[in-house]
Amino acid sequence: MNRRAPEAGDNKGDSLGLYLHIPFCARKCLYCDFLSFPASEETRRLYIKRLSEEIRACGRRAGMRERIVDTVFIGGGTPSLLLPEETEALLEAARASFRVDAGAEITMEANPGSFGRAAAGRLRRAGVTRLSLGLQSACDGELARLGRIHTCRAFQESFDAAREAGFDNVNVDLMSGLPGQTAESFGKTLAFTARLGPEHISAYSLMIEEGTPFYEAYGAMKADLERYGEWEDIPPGRRAAYQGTLPLPGEAADRGMYHMTKEFLMEQGYGRYEISNYAKTGGECRHNIRYWTGSDYLGLGLGAASLMDGARFTVTRSLKEYLGRTPEDFRLGKQYRETHVLSVREKMEEFMFLGLRMIRGVEAAGFSRRFGTRLEAVYQKACAGLMEDGLLASSGEGDEKRYYLTERGLDVSNCALAEFLFD
Ligand code: SF4
Repeated sequence: MNRRAPEAGDNKGDSLGLYLHIPFCARKCLYCDFLSFPASEETRRLYIKRLSEEIRACGRRAGMRERIVDTVFIGGGTPSLLLPEETEALLEAARASFRVDAGAEITMEANPGSFGRAAAGRLRRAGVTRLSLGLQSACDGELARLGRIHTCRAFQESFDAAREAGFDNVNVDLMSGLPGQTAESFGKTLAFTARLGPEHISAYSLMIEEGTPFYEAYGAMKADLERYGEWEDIPPGRRAAYQGTLPLPGEAADRGMYHMTKEFLMEQGYGRYEISNYAKTGGECRHNIRYWTGSDYLGLGLGAASLMDGARFTVTRSLKEYLGRTPEDFRLGKQYRETHVLSVREKMEEFMFLGLRMIRGVEAAGFSRRFGTRLEAVYQKACAGLMEDGLLASSGEGDEKRYYLTERGLDVSNCALAEFLFD
């Protein structure tokens, strides 16, 4: 299923990943701050037209035809809201404009409330090789509190439809730290998911993001939990303010779910290859590995981010502006709202803090290849300090040498990775 995944430092510029953003959702989930919203059929149709034009125009830019596209990721939003012929049109535009490898990993995100048998068959025939299904929780009460549009049963039907259509590479997204969630209910979600046997599982903790209905409902409670640790430790007077709101799991319960995920999924035969991502052998997501290894990707569509030739740039987040663009605007790059050319120091930081998210860590020789200097010469102090604290370890010698976060380092990854920032 998988070819060799890229290594940090491999950035030869000869391969490329494409990300296509579909910003539409049937309804906004209560915790979501992604660039997504409900839209009319007419808007959706015009958007697909513009996105196809952007794909074709970008494919005509100098140097693009020299690159082999070996991963395509259609994300959102809810790409499964598109009609199958719209997805087919996007893939056709990508194949006509870029050199998409015959063995490319082509992922599409799908929401169980909007994905059935007929669509699954057509998408498979259109060349989608990998499906990413958002379950989040197998408990209907938790799904309803998240504002998800599906039940656990609807998820099961979508998963079965994917298998019947021949999808043998499926990811399931899960979330922990949900309001009212307990170790027991989370255990049920993990067991339900493992029984289905997807090739890949992503498991993230709920983040309470500003500007979402969840922030209004839980922002203050979250701050109190961070201050006091557990629900029971919040002074009764403050707790009274949250009357009628189901409590969020406290720090210890949250950590418990994190450890449970790791232990349970590994027992079930999943390898942990990134802090929050697990896969059966060969089921690792090649597209996401691009992000963690600093390999080039081109983002197309509203708000999509790119990393190309050492620069990060982002498409406008204004739908009106995007829909008003012409093919010539796209060719000239007028859809981008900002471009940032990374300095060498920023590239080094990214090499370390993205690469170390992967369990295999970073290759010292890859650092030398990319920056012309030894990793130890730049990060001697950070590496020594983290190794002394038991958060970082190394293996191999010479060209084989790697640095990776230990179990303890992964548990406190935010603090450990911050050591690789220069300022
Ligand atoms: S389906 Fe995904 S992108 Fe859409 S609102 Fe829910 S979480 Fe956000």
